Amino acid sequence: PHFRAFLLAQLDRFADRDLVSSPEGKSRETSTYGDVHARAVSLAAWLRGRGLRASSRVAIGGLNSTEWVVAFVAVHLLGAVPVLLNSTLHPGQQAHCLTITKPDLILVDGKLAEQIVPVAKRLSAKGYNIIFAWSSIAHIPASNRAGIQQLTVTATEADVAAIEAGEGFDLTPESDGQILFTSGTTSAPKAVLVTQRGALSHILSSNITSARATLRAGGSYADAQARLNPPATQNVMLVPVPLFHVTGCLSWLIKAMTFGSKVVFMRRWDVDTAIDLISSERVNVIGGVPAIATSVVKAADRLPPGHTISSVNYGGAPPPASLAAEIQKAWPGASLANGYGMTETNGIITCLSGADYIANPKSVGVPFPLTQVRIVHPDTREPLPANEVGLILVKGSNVMKGYLGDAAATQKAMQDGWFDTGDLGSMTAEGWLSIGDRQKDMIIRGGENIASAEVEHALCEDLRVEHAAAVPVPDDVLGERVGVAVTLAPGATATPGDILASAEPRLRHAARPAVVVILPTLPRNASGKVVKTDVKKVVGRVWANAAPVS
Ligand code: ATP
Ligand code: MG
Repeated sequence: PHFRAFLLAQLDRFADRDLVSSPEGKSRETSTYGDVHARAVSLAAWLRGRGLRASSRVAIGGLNSTEWVVAFVAVHLLGAVPVLLNSTLHPGQQAHCLTITKPDLILVDGKLAEQIVPVAKRLSAKGYNIIFAWSSIAHIPASNRAGIQQLTVTATEADVAAIEAGEGFDLTPESDGQILFTSGTTSAPKAVLVTQRGALSHILSSNITSARATLRAGGSYADAQARLNPPATQNVMLVPVPLFHVTGCLSWLIKAMTFGSKVVFMRRWDVDTAIDLISSERVNVIGGVPAIATSVVKAADRLPPGHTISSVNYGGAPPPASLAAEIQKAWPGASLANGYGMTETNGIITCLSGADYIANPKSVGVPFPLTQVRIVHPDTREPLPANEVGLILVKGSNVMKGYLGDAAATQKAMQDGWFDTGDLGSMTAEGWLSIGDRQKDMIIRGGENIASAEVEHALCEDLRVEHAAAVPVPDDVLGERVGVAVTLAPGATATPGDILASAEPRLRHAARPAVVVILPTLPRNASGKVVKTDVKKVVGRVWANAAPVS
C-alpha cells in the first residue's frame, strides 16, 4: 500500500464526480476528481523537471484550497514526501518547522508566502530559492520578494510520461509517507514522520470498524459490507478544520476520497459561514472538534426546513456529555461518531458510532483491528487490570516512525514499539476504551487527582455555559486547586457565582472550582483545541488578584 496507488485509483474511479468546493475570492470554485487528477499530474511533472524524485520532501502550506489538494496529490504521485505546514504559526516557528523537516521545495499560498518573508530571505541568502506560491504574490512589495517565486506550472512531455508511468517509483510500504505536525496543545508542535503503510492503514481500519459496528447493532452482513463501499448518493462533507492537521488530511480529505465524497472547504471556522455553506452546498456530513459540532447543532434551527444532516463525526478532544442528545434532537436518525487518536498514530485509533454510541456514550470504542492498546501504570509502566485508569500506550503499523529533529522526545515517547499517548484512560475486559484526561491536564489538589474533563463536563451541564476549560491554580496549602474559564451560550447571562452555584452539586468536593472566569472566547489553536497554558495564564491572573469564590 502506498499513496500513489490509492490516489490514482480513487481519482480515476470517481473522475466525473465533484471533489472540492473551495472559496475563491468572493465566490466558490468546484473541481472534479478528474480536474484534480489532471492538475496534479502536471504539477508532479513540474516538480520532476526541477529534479525532485521519490523520497524528496516537499512542504505544503496554506489555507484550505483546491491548490492545496492538487499539491498534496502531486507530491504523492511523484512518490515524494509531503510536509504539511501549519499555516497559522509565526515566522519563527515556521523557520523551526522547516529546519527540522528540511524540505527540498516549498509550495505555499500567497498569504503564507507573505508571512514567511523573513524565512524566504534567509533561505535565499543561503542560495536556496525554493519557495513557490500557487496564488498571487502581487501584494508582497517587490523589495520583500527575495526567495519567493510565483508558481507557473510547465512540464515537458517526458516528465508527464514519467509521472504517468510511475518511473523511478520504488517505494515500499515502510517508505516515508508524510510529515505532519501535532496540534501544539501541550507544547510546541512536533514533526511526526509516518510511513506510507501507516497513513493508509487508517482508512482500512476505520472502515472495518464501522462495518463491525453495523454487525454489532444487528445489521445484516450485506449492510455491513455496504459500509465498505461508496454510498449510492454522494456524501457532501463540510471541512471546517485545516487540511494540515491529521483530522483534516486523513479523516476528511482521504476519507472523502475513499468513498467518492465531495469536500466543502472553509478557510477559518465561523458558525455563520458554516450554516450558509451547509445549506447552499447541501452538506450532509459535518463535524470537526466537538466545539464545532456543538456550535452547529446549537444553530440547527437556522438551516432551511427539511435540511437534514445524516452524519456528525467529531474527535480530537472530549465531547461534552450533552452533545449526542442535542444532535439526535436536531437531526433524528443522524449517525454519530466520536473518534480518538492523534497525529502520532495517523489519526483515530478507535471510533464509537451508531448503536454503540447510544449504549455506551462514555467510551470511545474498541481499538482498530491493526492497533493494540495497553493501559499501564504511569510510573512503573506495568500493565493494569481491566477498568483501572492508567496511561494509554499504542502499538501498530499506524504508529509514527518518530519525531523529526527530536531524538530525545522520540525515545521518551516510543518504548519497545509502544507509543506513549500522554493520555489517561481505562479499558474494559471486552476492550472498550474510555479517555480520562491528558496526563498534563490533571489537576492535583492536595494529592487528589482531578481530571479537568470531569470539571468541564459538570460545568457544561449548565445550559448557560457553552464551553468550559479547567486548569490548576496555585494554592499554598493544597499545591493546586481547580480554576475554570467558561464562555456563555449566545444570549445567556450569568455571573461566575451563578455558574459555580449550579455546578457545585454535580462535583465532588475536591473538584469544585476555586475561581470561575467568564471569557468571550476560549484561547484555541488552529486545530480548534483549547490551549490550556493560555487559559492557565488568564485564570491565574484573576486568581492572584481576587478573593476566592469558595
Ligand atoms: P501536542 O501533541 O502538540 O500537544 P495535540 O496532542 O493536541 O498537540 P493532536 O495529535 O492533534 O495534537 O491531538 C491528539 C490528542 O487529542 C490526544 O492525545 C488526546 O489527548 C486528544 N484527543 C483526541 N481525540 C480525542 C477524543 N475523542 N476524546 C478525548 N480526547 C481526544
Ligand atoms: Mg499530543
